[in-house]
Amino acid sequence: MYQLIDGKAISQQIKDELKEKVEKLKTQGTEICLAVIQVGNDPASGVYVNNKKKACAYIGIQSLSYELPEETTEEELLKLIGELNAKEEVNGILVQLPLPKQINEEKILLAIDPAKDVDGFHPANVGNLSIGRPGYVSCTPAGVIQLLKRSGIEIEGKECVVLGRSNIVGKPMAMLLLRENGTVTVCHSRTKNLKEITKRADILVAALGKPKFVDASYIKEGAVVIDVGIHRNENNKLCGDVDFEEVAPHTSAITPVPGGVGPMTIAMLMHNCVEGVENS
Ligand code: NAP
Repeated sequence: MYQLIDGKAISQQIKDELKEKVEKLKTQGTEICLAVIQVGNDPASGVYVNNKKKACAYIGIQSLSYELPEETTEEELLKLIGELNAKEEVNGILVQLPLPKQINEEKILLAIDPAKDVDGFHPANVGNLSIGRPGYVSCTPAGVIQLLKRSGIEIEGKECVVLGRSNIVGKPMAMLLLRENGTVTVCHSRTKNLKEITKRADILVAALGKPKFVDASYIKEGAVVIDVGIHRNENNKLCGDVDFEEVAPHTSAITPVPGGVGPMTIAMLMHNCVEGVENS
């Protein structure tokens, strides 16, 4: 029988721990403030931004909301980021992606002060992660590490395979597993003999963005499987990159979709906001 890794419960636990920390910081006169910027009215982004604001309210973090029109120019957005960088009372700045096409995403992410980059996307923070220095870490992969640790799953010495090499999930995921002393292999769309590699994995992280791509033929009996993917299937129901029904009986532990990695991303964003202030 496999262990179902409960991301909902673990993320709630993290949020409750943070709530306590924030209350303590408040008694010492320290407030935490996150600025959330959304450009345009993409409905999915709207839902994410709302969930982030709700999490802030629950934990006791002040959130400043900037809802800018679709036609906002790059210069206007850069000006706002410059102002928020300069505001001492703002501890974190988050720009919801994707941005409208007239705005260069890379330019925007580079403009955020690395000390306020709670998403962990700035090259300075990415670099710190890769050389083992403290800094903000991308929230989704950081959440995966918490899921493993808080479920009692050892990473050290394990064969870890990451499916996907994106800048926000796959690459930081690999660096974090390495930091935890896993033996890490990263696979991507040009990888040959994929199944031979995934079948070696004690811990397999699927972040390739292909609904139900990973079936039982990719899995070593008893592996731990973490599913980062989020998709809507033909019946509008959420599913991941892993075919859960087929794969779960072959694992020792697995995350469901929904209720696995998803809720961890916001919990880790909140963690980054609090940690940044604690360390400053
Ligand atoms: P992405 O930027 O599209 O990257 C996908 C990666 O998978 C790429 O590196 C790609 O390789 C690789 N890939 C694609 N097809 C492959 C194949 N057939 N075999 C091996 N590798 C393959 O996606 P992402 O942003 O990392 O997101 C991945 C998934 O996680 C998506 O479903 C996304 O919705 C989900 N996600 C969830 C959360 C959350 O909070 N739970 C957060 C972020 C993302 P190449 O580099 O060679 O193209």
